[in-house]
Amino acid sequence: MGTISELFGTMVFNDDVMKERLPENVYNSIQNTIKNGKHLDLTSANIVAEAMMKWAIEKGATHFTHWFQPMTGITAEKHDSFISFKNNRAIMEFKGKELVQGESDASSFPSGGIRATFEARGYTAWDPSSYAFIKDGTLCIPTAFCSYGGEALDKKTPLLRSMEVLGKAALKILKLFGNEDVTSVKTTVGAEQEYFLVDKDVFYKRPDLVYTGRTLFGAKPPKGQELDDHYFGSIKPRVQAFMKELDEELWKVGVLAKTEHNEAAPAQHELAPIFTTTNLATDHNQIMMEYMQKIAKKLDLVCLLHEKPFKGVNGSGKHNNWSMSTNTGVNLFEPGETPHENAQFLLFLCAVIKAVDEYQDLLRISVASASNDHRLGAHEAPPAVVSIFLGDELNGVLEAIENDAKYDPKEKETMRIGVHILPKFPKDTTDRNRTSPFAFTGNKFEFRMLGSSASIADTNTFLNTAVTQVLNEFYDVLSVADDFMPALHNLVRDTIKKHKRILFNGNGYDDAWIKEAEARGLSNYKSTPDALPHLLDEKNIKLFRDNKVFNEVELKARCEILLESYSKLVNIEALTAIDMANQLIMPAVSKYTKELLKTIKLKKELYIDGGYEEQVATRLTALNAQAYQLTKELELNLSLVKRLEGAEKIAKSYEHTVLGVMNKLREVVDEMESMTSIEYWPIPTYGELLFSVK
Ligand code: ADP
Ligand code: MG
Repeated sequence: MGTISELFGTMVFNDDVMKERLPENVYNSIQNTIKNGKHLDLTSANIVAEAMMKWAIEKGATHFTHWFQPMTGITAEKHDSFISFKNNRAIMEFKGKELVQGESDASSFPSGGIRATFEARGYTAWDPSSYAFIKDGTLCIPTAFCSYGGEALDKKTPLLRSMEVLGKAALKILKLFGNEDVTSVKTTVGAEQEYFLVDKDVFYKRPDLVYTGRTLFGAKPPKGQELDDHYFGSIKPRVQAFMKELDEELWKVGVLAKTEHNEAAPAQHELAPIFTTTNLATDHNQIMMEYMQKIAKKLDLVCLLHEKPFKGVNGSGKHNNWSMSTNTGVNLFEPGETPHENAQFLLFLCAVIKAVDEYQDLLRISVASASNDHRLGAHEAPPAVVSIFLGDELNGVLEAIENDAKYDPKEKETMRIGVHILPKFPKDTTDRNRTSPFAFTGNKFEFRMLGSSASIADTNTFLNTAVTQVLNEFYDVLSVADDFMPALHNLVRDTIKKHKRILFNGNGYDDAWIKEAEARGLSNYKSTPDALPHLLDEKNIKLFRDNKVFNEVELKARCEILLESYSKLVNIEALTAIDMANQLIMPAVSKYTKELLKTIKLKKELYIDGGYEEQVATRLTALNAQAYQLTKELELNLSLVKRLEGAEKIAKSYEHTVLGVMNKLREVVDEMESMTSIEYWPIPTYGELLFSVK
């Protein structure tokens, strides 16, 4: 292996490669396309495609694919080879048209009714703002995916739309502050990714892990994470080998993998990249998840990205660190050195406070999934209530503004924006409040509700759009003010007054907070079926429509798809639980009971008391009968759900009538596990799973 800089980006058709391989005028046109979204003419596109193909072939590629992110939340690709047949000869060819647009039979991707199967065409369109790269001998061209009528069928299109409108709104505000040199504003994201690694052999003996990604049964082992001996602990050799290969492969495709460490639970780890522009960060997170799974398999491991693979130990999340910065390199959430910079910082801060308060439901919805439901509100993850943590210093400043008070006891004057210099806030690198769903960490916000398996696209799309809306409202007030500074001061003060209910510095995991949050009127949608339908609340439809991020058809389609995928997942889980109970667990318990009964019989023949065996056999017999009853109940409830109509009704029924019974069945099975001889237990235990990797 070479040095990191020799390795980094070697499989990416990036700016350096373009500069080297494209004629100057074509290079300039493509830069204009990348930076300003200008249309690339077909002649230039042909030249770019030809150069891309030659470069890719030199790197060993034989195929190309439009790489896109359908609403399933994972990535999709359809490979075509570069081969073409001309004058009786096979040649390598890749045309501009093939680079710019693809048509795929997309009938198997969910469209939420946007596209009937008989008009199965979906189009993929090149996103030049994300560089092409080579993965497994295939040139991958990042693309957006939409229907014939132009509706978005993917997660990238709305994200790009939201970044564009937010950039425009922020720019208008920055002009009010006299920042004439700024020409564009982008959001940046660093997504920290948590995951588990388990041994492949152990994994394949657990149908629940294979089919659903989580354990549906499993008694708690004597040792879990209570000793905190895994967190930041020394990394085991097999895991070390995994991380090394993962880093190298990610660097090659331009992913800025940076920090690797052990997480709180046994077998749990984290990878954090260096932040980048949001749409790239989204692409890179998808690549990261794919590579984690691929490289793990290669090393006889399995990477679990599920939010809650194991009951009773920490689940996995994905912290979305989010900020905004200008093309001149200014982070808009960096508190400044001068009164002027501080005023601007406070305005952007207030925009986020208001956006998160008014659209708290959307942030909750953006992380809603069947798998994340098991994690949110458990003892290691934020609750389903959204709130913002600002830290004591910043809170003090906001309070002083709100009350026209002195924020520093030594100061005689009341706090005035644009006059005072704010204290330098120490960057919250220690993560002092890990319990907050949305924490200000010195120069960015860290949103911690996202699940580990989710795409980060929806969260960022929703957040960007909400902030856009508020910035535009702020602009309408400030742009007509006669006197800017007092108007700004009033706007900031009024915003704090009105939206301070969303600010919370205490322990977000505390039950008392949930009560208080309810008293403050914050929403608490506990489950996915509770949360999702609110995507279509009038205010949310209006937000997305007014800001041109989703039209109503697109939004309805998304809601439908998300509800359906919730139901499908729970259905798969229930079927898996039934099979495991019927085919593995109940027969194993019965077999063990038979063994006990034989012993009892022998003992009785010798006039020895049945004692231990008798008690265990009696209890196991009762429990196994209960397990059988619950399995029957589960089967019945599943058949009843199948008769319902309407995505919302079905999802709610899965939650209440199916998941509930699955939980009861689990309790019974886990008790049986704790009483059954390990020799007879048909699947690997939690102990084997969590401590399987040496
Ligand atoms: P930690 O959370 O471990 O203290 P950091 O706060 O430095 O570490 O960073 C956590 C994540 O936040 C990293 O992925 C980092 O790249 C990202 N990050 C840092 N600055 C920004 C920013 N301005 N915008 C978006 N993400 C950022
Ligand atoms: Mg962090």
